Amino acid sequence: MKSNQLVLAAILLLTGFVGCKQKTDTTQKFIDTSAFDSSVKPGDNFYQFVNGKWLKTAVIPSTESSVGSFLDVYNRTKEHIKGILEEVSKGSNPDGSIEQKVGDFYASGMDSVTIEKRGYEPIKPTLQEIDGIKDTKGLVAFVAKQQTQNEGILYAPYVAADDKNSSMNILAFYQSGLGLPDRDYYFKTDSATIAVQKAYQTYLKKLFILTGTDSVTAVKNVADIYDLEKKIASSHRTNVELRDPKSNYNKLSVADLQKKMPAFDWVTVINTLGVKADSVNVNQPAFYAKVNELLTTTPLPVWKAYLKASRIKLAASVLSSAFVKASFDYQKALSGQQEIKPRWERMYWSVDGNLGDALGQLYVKKYFTEDAKNRMLDLVNNLSTAFEARINKLDWMSDSTKTKAKDKLYAFLKKIGYTDKWRDYSKVTIDKNKYFENLQACSQNEFNYQINKVGKPVDKTEWGMTAPTINAYYNPLFNEIVFPAGILQFPFFDPAADDAINYGGIGLVIGHEMTHGFDDQGAQYDKDGNLKNWWGKSDSLQFVAKSKLVINQYNGFTILDTLHVNGALTTGENMADNGGLAIAYDAFKMTKQGQDTTRIDGFTPDQRFFISFAQVWRSKLKDELARVYINTDPHSPDKWRVFGPLSNFTPFYTAFDVKEGDKMYKAEKDRIKIW
Ligand SMILES: [Zn+2]
Repeated sequence: MKSNQLVLAAILLLTGFVGCKQKTDTTQKFIDTSAFDSSVKPGDNFYQFVNGKWLKTAVIPSTESSVGSFLDVYNRTKEHIKGILEEVSKGSNPDGSIEQKVGDFYASGMDSVTIEKRGYEPIKPTLQEIDGIKDTKGLVAFVAKQQTQNEGILYAPYVAADDKNSSMNILAFYQSGLGLPDRDYYFKTDSATIAVQKAYQTYLKKLFILTGTDSVTAVKNVADIYDLEKKIASSHRTNVELRDPKSNYNKLSVADLQKKMPAFDWVTVINTLGVKADSVNVNQPAFYAKVNELLTTTPLPVWKAYLKASRIKLAASVLSSAFVKASFDYQKALSGQQEIKPRWERMYWSVDGNLGDALGQLYVKKYFTEDAKNRMLDLVNNLSTAFEARINKLDWMSDSTKTKAKDKLYAFLKKIGYTDKWRDYSKVTIDKNKYFENLQACSQNEFNYQINKVGKPVDKTEWGMTAPTINAYYNPLFNEIVFPAGILQFPFFDPAADDAINYGGIGLVIGHEMTHGFDDQGAQYDKDGNLKNWWGKSDSLQFVAKSKLVINQYNGFTILDTLHVNGALTTGENMADNGGLAIAYDAFKMTKQGQDTTRIDGFTPDQRFFISFAQVWRSKLKDELARVYINTDPHSPDKWRVFGPLSNFTPFYTAFDVKEGDKMYKAEKDRIKIW
């Protein structure tokens, strides 16, 4: 069962990177001038100017698909997490303690001998159960039962705050059922997409052969499954369509759904999930109508092959090495990563994903300080002040809407470091000899936790990311900005750095998340997290017109020769990047250093602020990963996350003497400013 992460607007697509408190090195230089390419004029390409030499020489490690600032943070600290895991897995912890659970979970995952010996035995009973399905009714019941073990097959139920009654939780259903990254992958015919389609089909075939199917049948199964998925994909909304929260909100009565989609059998599904609900939020009704239709038109053997493939795929990365390799080979085609990560590193991701709040507790105890939290709170408050001042000065918004915007800004819930209320794992039994069963126990616990929330008041202390995560998010339903401990380190934040560095780094991140409260999606939610219009009519029209300017600007950016940034898909993130930069800069200008002109390392305070910003987004990606991102990631590529906002921001022009004729130059009237 998915969490409410579906609606979170994060600073990065990837989650799961971990970090730790950085030791303060007073001799550290916070600007890496050895990375500069001084042959490039700052006004032509500031990203290249700051990172050019680094971009020429940086090598993507064989176990990664990218390299850059985020990976630096991750690399510096993953050894620390390893230290925690190795310490607690030695085995002398009191039974039932979080140390015992984390330690034994990790040990069970490291026990490759047992895992190898078991092959695919852990999922055999489920595969046999699929063999025994007799009709559509049995099929529907099987899938619903798997959902109660948190196995997301075919469709995706989840529990979240009701968009139109945000203090109460509701059961919702999202579109799902595909193996490729998204619906468009089934319909594109370019050579890169065809390579991914082929890799996916090869993967499915391998999974059937590994579980004892002969190769002729395996090939037939794959063709059938692919055809079925393509039909499902035709009903999916595109990732741009999915950005519209209003169209994703369809609170429908279970009785009506049952009448309209009898084969899907909503009553059985909801009863099996163990929920008493008269109505549910069906985010994308066309997908569910399509599944209902396919349940009656697709032969049962095809569905059974589909269910088997779905189940094996879910388990492949945790079974014996042949399955892990098959799974990795497909990931390799998608991401360009050449070698699989070492087992311990995969296991720490698994611990983070399954016992995240237990690992989080051990992590913050060792690597997070209250001082960092207080420093962050100061920064957040300064950014709020700067944002308020910007709202007051907006020339396109009426006073009454401004008042409401400020109400929303000051209603932000601020979460820094880690949760006040750790998740309870007391009902999870962890055995150091049974990795697969441990995963099941965690999944079961997660399902129970989520499903128990249906129809109950929303608990706003909940977090959508674990403490060690190097990321941040805005959640419109809670109207909150959240900064896990993991991101509070250099190059984002360092207590020893000057304000220019911190405001250009974590300040930008804070401003970015704040602006999400007012982007194409966030702006549709009010201060209490309800999907409810609070805008004056002409303000709304102006906002939409300005959004179109952002879309057009980013549509003009390319990667990999001719592949364009999708302005509509990335509009919310681009607004957040533009607003975030402006707010962070204004807040920086309120500091002592911001009002000073003293140079450090030869740079003025303003120059240091912009260099810090460009350093944060330093990265290099495998082409394969870059393609997946451009197709599915709501964030623009890192180069454009620097180029776009700076080309709209006049103080940057002043700081680096950007002039007409420079490639980043835009006439003052063309510089886009929303917030
Ligand atoms: Zn974002």
